[in-house]
Amino acid sequence: MSKKVAIIGSGFAGLSAATCLATKGMDVHVFEKNNQIGGRARQFDSNGFRFDMGPSWYWMPDVFENYFKLFGRDPKEFYDLQLLDPAFAMIFEDEVMDIPADFESICDLFEQTEKGSADQLRKFMKDAAYKYEKGINDLVYKPGLSLMEFADPKLIFDVFRLQVFSSFSKHVRKHFKHPKLISLMEFPVLFLGAMPQQTPALYSLMNYAGLKLGTWYPMGGFHKIIEGMQEVAEEAGVRFYTNEPVTGFNIKNNTINHVNANGHSMDVDAVIGAADYHHVEQNLLEAKYRNYSEDYWDKRTFAPSCLIYYLGFNKKIPKLRHHNLFFDNNLERHSEEIYIDKIWPHEPLFYACCPSKTDPIVAPEGSENVFLLMPIAPGLQDSEPQREIYFNKMIDRLEKFVGEPIRSNVVYKRSYCVSNFVNDYNAYKGNAYGLANTLRQTAILKPSLKSKKVKNLFFTGQLTVPGPGVPPSLISGQVVAKELMKRFK
Ligand SMILES: Cc1cc2nc3c(=O)[nH]c(=O)nc-3n(C[C@H](O)[C@H](O)[C@H](O)COP(=O)(O)OP(=O)(O)OC[C@H]3O[C@@H](n4cnc5c(N)ncnc54)[C@H](O)[C@@H]3O)c2cc1C
Repeated sequence: MSKKVAIIGSGFAGLSAATCLATKGMDVHVFEKNNQIGGRARQFDSNGFRFDMGPSWYWMPDVFENYFKLFGRDPKEFYDLQLLDPAFAMIFEDEVMDIPADFESICDLFEQTEKGSADQLRKFMKDAAYKYEKGINDLVYKPGLSLMEFADPKLIFDVFRLQVFSSFSKHVRKHFKHPKLISLMEFPVLFLGAMPQQTPALYSLMNYAGLKLGTWYPMGGFHKIIEGMQEVAEEAGVRFYTNEPVTGFNIKNNTINHVNANGHSMDVDAVIGAADYHHVEQNLLEAKYRNYSEDYWDKRTFAPSCLIYYLGFNKKIPKLRHHNLFFDNNLERHSEEIYIDKIWPHEPLFYACCPSKTDPIVAPEGSENVFLLMPIAPGLQDSEPQREIYFNKMIDRLEKFVGEPIRSNVVYKRSYCVSNFVNDYNAYKGNAYGLANTLRQTAILKPSLKSKKVKNLFFTGQLTVPGPGVPPSLISGQVVAKELMKRFK
């Protein structure tokens, strides 16, 4: 008889683990507390607008292709990918830098900004290409359970070449001097959620992903990927239960034999926690079964939370691109306010996404769909008046940039912040992107994807290996499925 596996949470990691296990003959049941599949990549419709609630940057298309290929499928069957050109705009106080899709044009742009930097960029990218190749095809698939996984002499040599232990910030500054180019190179590590000084230089692989492999957009929005994944999962036999928060387990002989959800109970052979790791351990398990203490979690460096505004405008805003990064304030100061001072920022940087530039389906004709995102420290108290202060700051800056009044054209407005992340996803301190990829939180130094005390409990998702972001979460699900299968060999 096939083994029965319960998965808690239906984000990218839970979906990925579920499908991998079902195609290996497991009887897989996914419990989701919300009324919609997709986790942080949920979507909602209102007043003719369609908003992706979370991810908006489609980087590393090869990871998505490889995922669907595992099941004999192709992303094209589920969504059309558009290459964005310009890929994104960096908005500085005195200049807008449109980053082209073509790499040689990016080199020209660098050269215009700093003499000699085009050659430096080519050199930087050659090295980043190696890191990407090694990192994405090899390192990220390691479960991070033992140092022995890294005991291959070639890999030990590579650790130096891959710059696992040196700082990203120093690496960038070795190649570029102009502050605008430094900001451009450092912004992707904000995705990884840490100060560039504390991020391993290995993550220049993100620059390769962003500047060489292209910035893409799945037409219909990010939720199309979730819909595709759900279809493949259901074909493989996965069963989904929405509005079913898992509330606890029955454990005997250090083995979970029942999962309790919403007043009923299901017998199981194994469980994967694909919800926030901290929640599964601290809220669903008795203290004696936990891998980590509350103090451990408190000492981790979490990626930021954020304040988001989903906005509908009843007119077109010609000056906006699809992705707009407002770097017109001091990046270092805002980073310190997130990671060191842990306070609401004084003059924040923010990001404006306008998918209606590419996709007519996300806004009524003649309208614009805009998503504003401002990174903040996790755990901050947020209130409606506090959110509104920052809404006004961001709208003022947007108006200044687009050169026309737009505040009075807002016809739809919804905010989302720390307390929503806590309530909707059980996110520790309302984090948005999980655990940061710092020098001290990489590979075996991440929370373990296997319980050390409960024999049939595993973890996946953005708080364990390989880390935050959609591609790593897709990979995390594959890695945990492989580990779980070993138990039943
Ligand atoms: C605003 C925002 C923007 C982002 N932008 C990007 C981007 O542009 N590109 C990119 O690659 N990544 C981006 N990310 C990161 C990316 O979305 C995440 O890393 C990824 O989606 C995490 O997937 P996951 O499966 O680990 O977790 P989640 O998506 O959080 O899934 C966990 C699921 O568990 C459920 N759950 C929680 N508790 C329970 C319970 N007790 N019982 C049952 N279910 C439960 C939750 O409801 C949730 O559905 C962004 C994230 C956010 C929030």
